[in-house]
Amino acid sequence: MREDKRLYIVIPCYNEEEVLPETSKRLKEKVTSLISQGFISSDSRICFVNDGSKDSTWDLITKYHDEDPVFSGVNLSRNKGHQNALLAGMMTVMDKADMIISMDADLQDDINAMDEMVQKYHEGCDVVYGVRSRRTTDTFFKRVTAESFYKMMDKMGAKTVFNHADYRLLSKRALEGLAGFKEVNLFIRGLVPMIGYKSDVVYYERGERFAGESKYPLSKMLQFAVEGVTSLSVKPIRYITALGFFVFLFSLIILIYSFVRHYLGETIQGWTTLMVSIWAIGGLILLSLGVVGEYVGKIYLESKERPRYIIEEFLDK
Ligand code: UDP
Ligand code: MG
Repeated sequence: MREDKRLYIVIPCYNEEEVLPETSKRLKEKVTSLISQGFISSDSRICFVNDGSKDSTWDLITKYHDEDPVFSGVNLSRNKGHQNALLAGMMTVMDKADMIISMDADLQDDINAMDEMVQKYHEGCDVVYGVRSRRTTDTFFKRVTAESFYKMMDKMGAKTVFNHADYRLLSKRALEGLAGFKEVNLFIRGLVPMIGYKSDVVYYERGERFAGESKYPLSKMLQFAVEGVTSLSVKPIRYITALGFFVFLFSLIILIYSFVRHYLGETIQGWTTLMVSIWAIGGLILLSLGVVGEYVGKIYLESKERPRYIIEEFLDK
């Protein structure tokens, strides 16, 4: 039965007091309409995850929960970042939900795409990706950086769905699959395709942030890209190895060349080539060490098996 299926909408929030009043209002309307159409159960919920906000975000969430049981809330003990907050929310509601939809608090993702997502769930999909059809409202800079981010990630072996962020529907068993990924360095949108099951996409137009500023400046985005690549694939190491191999081949050619010059009696006492090669090789070694170090750092973190989040409070009626 369609109307037995319980939906939880999971929204990570970091300093979102400016958008929450509007977001909660619109989401409630959406949930009410989905319920009245018989697409989801009447005890479906909107779950806000407070990611250690410094403003009144948690107070607002508590207030919404007190006023209306459709709102539930998870409060993290401190700021853990978007990905960890999202995972915390999804894992907390996993046992109660038949499906979850994750989205950002700022209403940049068109909530009307939810109808189609739920529709696809009923048609048997376990994963439904929300994909931005256009990026016209993003600034030129954001668009170019974000699109090169996806292309670069793809080349580096981190396969993701193009122009899909974290707006998606997951069924209960897809969530259970996700729970099996124990990694600490989280890049959820790279993990979801690894779960498998039947999936589909829903297109929507991305709007502008409703209020407040982006919590993802360029520095965080670059960090996120490095995180994505190094936590999903070992391709960078392979590239370095290949580079090392070609540099080695090249040095053999230089060796033969030097011998030929030597026996022809043409050797010049030039330090330029020497200096250049020392710097070039030195640079390469440092670069390789850096990349290897990145992975060693990851192993170090994974071996610690630190908790990825700690929940302080879970409000749910
Ligand atoms: N967010 C979070 N913790 C953080 C940073 C961001 O939970 O440390 C949330 C934020 O509240 C929002 C979502 O992650 O709901 C995406 O952030 P934002 O909209 O600022 O990113 P952008 O859309 O600019 O990439
Ligand atoms: Mg946003």
